[in-house]
Amino acid sequence: MSFFEVHDPRFASYVMGNAPVKQLATGFDWVEGPVWFGDAGCLLFSDIPNNRILRFTPGVGISTYRAPSNYANGHTRDREGRLISCEHGTRRVSRTELDGRITVIADAYLGKPLNSPNDVVVKSDGSIWFTDPHYGIKTNYEGFQSPQELPCNVYRVDPDGTIAAVLTDFNCPNGLAFSPDEQRLYVADTGRMFNADPQHIRVFDMGSGLPKGGAVFHTISPGCADGIRCDNDGNLWSSAGDGVHCLAPDGTLLGKILIPETVSNLCFGGRAKHQLFITATTSLYTVTLNRAGVQRP
Ligand code: MG
Repeated sequence: MSFFEVHDPRFASYVMGNAPVKQLATGFDWVEGPVWFGDAGCLLFSDIPNNRILRFTPGVGISTYRAPSNYANGHTRDREGRLISCEHGTRRVSRTELDGRITVIADAYLGKPLNSPNDVVVKSDGSIWFTDPHYGIKTNYEGFQSPQELPCNVYRVDPDGTIAAVLTDFNCPNGLAFSPDEQRLYVADTGRMFNADPQHIRVFDMGSGLPKGGAVFHTISPGCADGIRCDNDGNLWSSAGDGVHCLAPDGTLLGKILIPETVSNLCFGGRAKHQLFITATTSLYTVTLNRAGVQRP
């Protein structure tokens, strides 16, 4: 069987016929938020409904990193390598300090509680950008069902702690990623999970420092774009209903990595950031690529 679908000749050089898609672990409920810790040689990811952050260590297996996790969802690392986490249960973004203490990055805007921060990235200037859809407060499955008090915005937190709503015209912003040169910001809108709102990836021009534009970049099918990541060449790798889709900077579908479960998110890791870790419904998968991701560190 083939693990890949080549839609453009470029993609044929990104994957390797002798590098299979492997299921690393299964038995979870809805996994999300993978983040690679090269210094610790492990991957962290969330099993949201089971209220825990898990650790995958190659050659060792799965262990619990944090439980309860406040129904944590997406994660990233900041410029100092600290873990930044979106938490549905506490409706906040937190930072885990190197000594284990937890610092609250954001839990309110204009005096009202955030909805349920979903995914987060850190820009090279240290600002923290996160999406705040309502998924974690709509039901008791991925958090605590609660009234929504704010629109589903995209926020930026500056290093001095100032929080700003930078994108306010989304139905349900979800995954987000900067291009390698940070001249572009991609944001996925997954509105259709709960209604017939648009589901697509939008692209913003960051030339002025603030996101401008916001045209539809690509509409994933089947399924929708949840988590997204860029590789070093500016290709965007997106979660989808049938696996991971690789999109060129002009939005062209280059190819697919086929996964037998709905994919929620992905991240690059491994020795050369050439290994893709994929969270997909009940399982964690991996595949080695002839490509490297831009995640830091
Ligand atoms: Mg997400």
